[in-house]
Amino acid sequence: MHRKSSLIILIWMLVLSPVTVQAKQNTISPYLATRSFYTKLISTAKPDIAKLRLFFTLMPKGGDIHQHFTGSLYAENYLDWVNTAGYWISKSDFTVITPKEADKLKDTVSVKNLRSNKVMYSDFFSHWSDKDFANHYHEALAPDVQFFNTFSYFSKIFNGNQKYYAEGIQLLKNRAKNENVQYLETMFVSPGYQKADTAFDALARSGDINLDNKAFRATLDRFISSVSKDSLFYSKVNQYRDLVDLCTKGIDDEGFTLRFQSYVSRNTTPSQFFSGLYGAFYEADKNARVVGVNIVSAENDAIALADYKLHMQLFRYLKEKFPHIKTSMHAGELTTGMVLPEELKYHISDAVFVAGANRIGHGVDIAYETDALRTLRCMKANHIPVEINLTSNEFILGVKDAAHPVRIYTDYGVPIVISSDDPGVSRSSLTEEYVLLASRYRYSYNEIKQFVSNSIKYSFMTKSEKERGAELLQKRFDEFEHKISALATR
Ligand SMILES: [Zn+2]
Repeated sequence: MHRKSSLIILIWMLVLSPVTVQAKQNTISPYLATRSFYTKLISTAKPDIAKLRLFFTLMPKGGDIHQHFTGSLYAENYLDWVNTAGYWISKSDFTVITPKEADKLKDTVSVKNLRSNKVMYSDFFSHWSDKDFANHYHEALAPDVQFFNTFSYFSKIFNGNQKYYAEGIQLLKNRAKNENVQYLETMFVSPGYQKADTAFDALARSGDINLDNKAFRATLDRFISSVSKDSLFYSKVNQYRDLVDLCTKGIDDEGFTLRFQSYVSRNTTPSQFFSGLYGAFYEADKNARVVGVNIVSAENDAIALADYKLHMQLFRYLKEKFPHIKTSMHAGELTTGMVLPEELKYHISDAVFVAGANRIGHGVDIAYETDALRTLRCMKANHIPVEINLTSNEFILGVKDAAHPVRIYTDYGVPIVISSDDPGVSRSSLTEEYVLLASRYRYSYNEIKQFVSNSIKYSFMTKSEKERGAELLQKRFDEFEHKISALATR
């Protein structure tokens, strides 16, 4: 054989040798290997949920920015505190009973005895969480009532026991870190100031409820002026500040950041709502750890519905006074049959166009809204994301699978973030939210990464905190993709 031809054959043999082929395979970047691994997982008719769960357990998830403090703790956590505090549980209605309630003491069970009584213990969970709801729904409350009722059990535990707040925060931090979450923006507690004023209530609900109406605006001005002269207001916000300090002390570290949103309940009188909202804005303005304001509780309750437009005007008023304070607003957590058809027409659009929300929580009723297309265009253009809470929407509203509007938002270019809402009550986690998202809607790996990155980008942290958060997230994705590429080649 000619020397030149033998050389060419030798080169070809080297190029095609198994060792070289193997080496070529290894040159696929960890990112591409991870993308391909994930694409295979969601490409089957019935995705392997266990494998998706492993994937999302390992995947960094950035931040959980729609999460309620009390709803994120598990009933077992609360029971530990009931035990430590020396309280009992009522056998008849599972409320917490303190030593001061002598008239109710006969009807109680200790935590130790509750835990050893299987039937009673199981019943306890069905009151304090959504656990096993599907097994007893025929004798339980409606899902939305069941869900919101759970919160009534928790509050007594914290009365006079502020250290439990701090312990709860530490638990949430540990849990977040365990599931690769680096940032929590938790709806924690409110300053708790409320000024009841029946004259204001009547005025606020009458006439033209619009800031462009001078008389309405003057009524609001007078009310806020009276609140700002009330010493109780300052005492309440100072107590709140002390509590925030206590609970955030030593929490942030190089791999984890915690910030709070303050909030107001939508099911109170106008004066209580407005004074509470003012306290929430005021404190967000003063305290770097409180980065935003929200509006909470059941959106389908009678007061919430009747005062919805008023609430939007009150948010708008305070946004004018505190223009740099960010707001995330629960809006459109409704569905057909739950309320009058007319109520499904405007909640998200009013939160966006009237109240000036920076983020929307849930946004489930968008498909019913009159101005849906205009709202979607505005959310896209102004980078107003929607916080998607799949487990919560399925339980409270019965909205899931193709009936959920998540695809409407992403198809129209509205940014979304994935969040957990109340993982303690729902007995779920942020990881499970991603499992649901991927298995139901088959978003690509790039889209999933975008949603994770949105949780830092659209958080209410400062610019420099977000930059640090994004760097940390990138580093964690690099590590994750290396792990998955090793797993993919096994
Ligand atoms: Zn929520």
